[in-house]
Amino acid sequence: MSRPLFCEVDLAALRHNYAKVKALAAGRGVWAVIKANAYGHGIAEAVKGFAQADGLAMLNFEDAVLCRQLGWSKPILMLEGAFSAADVALAQQLDLQLVVHQQRQVDWLLQASSPVTLHLHLKVNTGMNRLGFSVEQVSRPAEQLIRSNRCRALTWMTHFANSDLPALDQRGSYVDVNFQLDHLLRAMRTTGQPASEPELAQASVTNSAALVTGIQTPPVRVETAGWARPGIILYGATPFGEQTAAQLGFKPAMRLVSEIIAVQSLSPGDQVGYGSRFTAEQPMRIGVVACGYADGYPRIAKDGTPVWVAGQLTRLVGRVSMDMLTVDITHIPTAGEGSEVELWGTHVPIDDVAAGAQTIGYELMCAVAPRVKRRVIDSSPL
Ligand SMILES: *Cc1c(COP(=O)(O)O)cnc(C)c1O
Repeated sequence: MSRPLFCEVDLAALRHNYAKVKALAAGRGVWAVIKANAYGHGIAEAVKGFAQADGLAMLNFEDAVLCRQLGWSKPILMLEGAFSAADVALAQQLDLQLVVHQQRQVDWLLQASSPVTLHLHLKVNTGMNRLGFSVEQVSRPAEQLIRSNRCRALTWMTHFANSDLPALDQRGSYVDVNFQLDHLLRAMRTTGQPASEPELAQASVTNSAALVTGIQTPPVRVETAGWARPGIILYGATPFGEQTAAQLGFKPAMRLVSEIIAVQSLSPGDQVGYGSRFTAEQPMRIGVVACGYADGYPRIAKDGTPVWVAGQLTRLVGRVSMDMLTVDITHIPTAGEGSEVELWGTHVPIDDVAAGAQTIGYELMCAVAPRVKRRVIDSSPL
């Protein structure tokens, strides 16, 4: 009756990946990053799967409210801080930690009419040029916050632009991890804070890629820096171009699964789908799968993108439609109407589909459409 397309989320994989991250983080706190609806996996699923996490980091205050309603009592970090003065009061009420990356957020804190004492994370722009105070400007907000009675604790924070790439010996064509850490230290020194490697141990800098590589060149080791903030590897996809999530020991937490709903037999010269992108060179069987770009499968995916059908690996052929896509089942005689199809998950790494669509696993996870029904499993309930 209902369309056979599901987004399956495996709580056991979330638990496994968190445990691995925690081992890598060796003694540090770990924020499980659950922005973008937990990278498409669902906030409620993340709260369950990351029950062991030291804290949850997110953007939406609605999500923070939901986490508290679901019983999450450990720390919550709001990665972009307050979007309005009202968020400061909400943060106090729900005991949320806030990033402070701009002066108006400092002003909202200082001007709050009700009593507010929050753990704040002062974000320094060390080269990514997205959020944060510049090294030159950060001392004023830092001192304002430290002197105010609004700040229960202050953590210095920055975000890497290229932690998936090697550190450079000197300034090269990209801002590397060392360049950014050096700027973070300089920022910390401007407030007269004892800024040294031990001090960085209080800072928050490490995303998935930095956590995995543990960049080892001077001036500091990334492993020493404070609480880590991994996202993508917790969901079992890779932050790197070359190393796969499986090689790194992480398990995919999401499977996008569907079924073949129709089969076509092609003669040589027959074509498939819009734009007739694919032409059969020999007799072929084509499976029509209930999944299209309106479900979040990338329309741009090229012929040959891997798909798992009836227990075997095969390939996408022809352009992806809104609600359907077509796969080659010529060599899978057991495949027919009703056969199971995995678009990505445990047999087809999401990163391989992403590679076929000129994007990264992150984007595919986040783009699974709300119309796709969710199924939560726990592949090892113990
Ligand atoms: C998204 C995000 C992370 C996690 O990044 P991954 O590459 O998914 O590990 C960490 N910190 C901040 C500020 C982020 O926005």
